[in-house]
Amino acid sequence: MILYCRACGSPFREPLANPRACACGVTDRDNPIARVAVLVPVENGVLVVRRGGAGGSGHLSLPGGFVETPQTWPEDAARGVCSETGLDLDPATLTLYDLVARDWRPAHAVLVAKAPPLVELPRFTPNEDIVERGIVYGSRARSRLLLDVDLTGIGDYFDARHLSGPSAFRPA
Ligand SMILES: [Zn+2]
Repeated sequence: MILYCRACGSPFREPLANPRACACGVTDRDNPIARVAVLVPVENGVLVVRRGGAGGSGHLSLPGGFVETPQTWPEDAARGVCSETGLDLDPATLTLYDLVARDWRPAHAVLVAKAPPLVELPRFTPNEDIVERGIVYGSRARSRLLLDVDLTGIGDYFDARHLSGPSAFRPA
């Protein structure tokens, strides 16, 4: 949320409304933040990353990135996956799989893309942002990883493929 007027720099009055009007005449509003997460099938599971860094929580999530102009969402998706996992995806091979939003964070919509099944993973070196890469298996992945909005659709994905069983994570 933007706390200060972008024109004059004055703080907006509490409680912060949306849109917010400043005494100088400028109105600001919170725009939705769109992210794209990519479901990459590997073996009988899907590729995930464990985030570190300031915005990280240690949770597992699908790789991806923010949707930014002037790129298209498949380009953003491929760029995000490459920077987070080292995997080179062709944007043209990505399809739209789901769109996920949560009540508690309505301005953060996550577009979930699906990549073709992967045969081989490239080398991966952990870094500050991505501390671990791996594969999640099992239809009950959802319960274990419930806190991550990106993973909401994973349970359905496994269910649809009859890949049942307890959730498991294997570093890869
Ligand atoms: Zn102002």
